[in-house]
Amino acid sequence: MTARIREFLRNRRDDGPCMVLDLDVVRDNYRAFARSLPDTRVFYAVKANPAPEVLSLLASLGSCFDTASVAEIEMALAAGATPDRISYGNTIKKERDVARAYALGIRLFAVDCVAEVEKIGRAAPGSKVFCRILCAGVGAEWPLSRKFGCVPEMAADVLEHAHRLGLEAYGVSFHVGSQQRDTGAWDQALASASAIFRECAERGIHLSMVNLGGGFPTKYLKPVPGVKSYGNAIFRALSKHFGNRLPETIIEPGRGMVGNAGVIEAEVVLVSKKAEEDEVRWVYLDIGKFGGLAETMDEAIRYPIRTDHDGDDKVPCVLAGPTCDSVDVMYEKEPYWLPVSLEIGDKVLIEGTGAYTTTYSAVAFNGFPPLRSYVI
Ligand SMILES: *Cc1c(COP(=O)(O)O)cnc(C)c1O
Repeated sequence: MTARIREFLRNRRDDGPCMVLDLDVVRDNYRAFARSLPDTRVFYAVKANPAPEVLSLLASLGSCFDTASVAEIEMALAAGATPDRISYGNTIKKERDVARAYALGIRLFAVDCVAEVEKIGRAAPGSKVFCRILCAGVGAEWPLSRKFGCVPEMAADVLEHAHRLGLEAYGVSFHVGSQQRDTGAWDQALASASAIFRECAERGIHLSMVNLGGGFPTKYLKPVPGVKSYGNAIFRALSKHFGNRLPETIIEPGRGMVGNAGVIEAEVVLVSKKAEEDEVRWVYLDIGKFGGLAETMDEAIRYPIRTDHDGDDKVPCVLAGPTCDSVDVMYEKEPYWLPVSLEIGDKVLIEGTGAYTTTYSAVAFNGFPPLRSYVI
């Protein structure tokens, strides 16, 4: 919570939940990444928060952009990024979208199998490709599934295929899992990456780049290491596995760039119990999983919640959203402790909500409008 956000909310007159994002925090985050990983290019993961103001600010600071669709590429271009500062980092692309991206000037693509390489070979001739490898995601609070990447042993074949098709086999990428609280998580993936570099070199293909992905955390309830610690740990792992021949590197922060810049203001719609004798109360807000808090799925992300009664005694509460869907419950397995004095109509502030909220909110489930976003 920043003074600017507090001031904005004090003067806000409209109704309904909203997310307010302070660009000063994004600027600080960008500079911290640039300082902590000085020889690494930053590709902001657009999906975390594609607000035009965020993209324009980052473009002006020199950031590059990791995109997953033609629409995101167009947003990055509209924000002032040139095509050479944009990667098409999704491993799942229609060939005609690859062609559209190529027509827009994009020359850097992610792949994780031969069939995807073939699409790039046909629709984006001569482009650079990097091969994404699977990563265990241990230590991440929002771990990624096996959806993206191939086993490291397969990567050299994928890259060799690219090379044969006249593409530039550029490097290797991975993602250590989102909200990764272990700064050592990059070590194993970098060991795999260096093995792929060696295997390719033996086949006469000289890779240049390692894409270190995202995963940099936002502080929610538990403490997280600072960006500098991540930079140091990554640099140590790079030196360990690549020696003096350090590759070019890029990072793709999403959550770590915008998460702590945003706050959601929501309203208590109902406080109730399921039985008179229950200790646990149900607190229904005007925002839930379908209004932007999708990352409460499996109670993975626990947001800090502030109220005007935080000094009062607290009681365990199940938190739920306003829709008529029974899965729209946020914290039930591990109830959330909120002030006993919290009442219908009170405002609550949900912190650390600058990433993965506005983009996750439904268009109009049950007629609730999408999460309103203010960038200040
Ligand atoms: C979503 C995504 C990111 C951003 O991840 P964070 O954990 O939010 O930093 C980076 N790279 C790729 C390829 C992604 O899909």
